[in-house]
Amino acid sequence: MSPSSRQRRITPASGAYQRRSRMLLVLAPVAGFTLFAGAALWWFADDVGLHVPSWSTGAVVMDEPQLSVDTRNDLRIQLQLLQSQWQRLNALDALQGKGKARPAPAIALSLQPTAHISDADLRERVDILSRALDQRLFANKPKAGSGRLMPVNGVTPSSNFGLRLDPFSKKLSVHNGIDFVAPLGTPILAAEAGTVKTAGLTPQFGWSVELDHGNGITTRYAHAYRLWVRAGDRVNAGEKIAEVGSTGKSTGPHLHFEVRYNGAPLNPLRFLAAR
Ligand SMILES: [Zn+2]
Repeated sequence: MSPSSRQRRITPASGAYQRRSRMLLVLAPVAGFTLFAGAALWWFADDVGLHVPSWSTGAVVMDEPQLSVDTRNDLRIQLQLLQSQWQRLNALDALQGKGKARPAPAIALSLQPTAHISDADLRERVDILSRALDQRLFANKPKAGSGRLMPVNGVTPSSNFGLRLDPFSKKLSVHNGIDFVAPLGTPILAAEAGTVKTAGLTPQFGWSVELDHGNGITTRYAHAYRLWVRAGDRVNAGEKIAEVGSTGKSTGPHLHFEVRYNGAPLNPLRFLAAR
């Protein structure tokens, strides 16, 4: 950030912010982006995400947008889930005789459910513990023949895991996965071998598939146009399980991809990087 730029604290609901998002939607096609409106919003949302504290390209600098009550609750729930998964992993290691329980980063375990904590601290703790859990789970490459693959070929996924601007409510919210923008009907592939846990239609995820990879790890593939598997099917890594669509709570054709450890959302980019 240049020292001359005046720092202003504004909330996502403020006029300047909304003007900027509108302007982006108008400018996107002009600038040659082929993204649809929703994707443009997500792209924009990356700029106010966890790892980009300020937006310094214009006169207005984004600095620590206030979280909505819903987002705070989501983050608290996410932190508690991550904390319990860390303890569960310790218990599992103890059962398998893998030696002493590993302490989590102290700061990430120090939250009492009733304690007051600032928005920034809450986000930091979720991020620290999520990262530590990812490293613990995915530090080792999978065994030969059980590799991981990108669920959509030839598409760079977004990096909007964590906080982002919700394309529907236009408020900061927690995004539990990453998105692959691709044309309708593009094959969705199993990221790792596993068993189909669920395959069906839900209001939020539309036509979606959940794969169970064992050891508490599951992946979800949402907003599909059409499914190619049924619950109980065994699938190999890279096998076609569905086609990209825009069913459920979606603004245009894309794959919403999640990785969870016993239900706690992990950053899919780190899961996919360990392959
Ligand atoms: Zn998504």
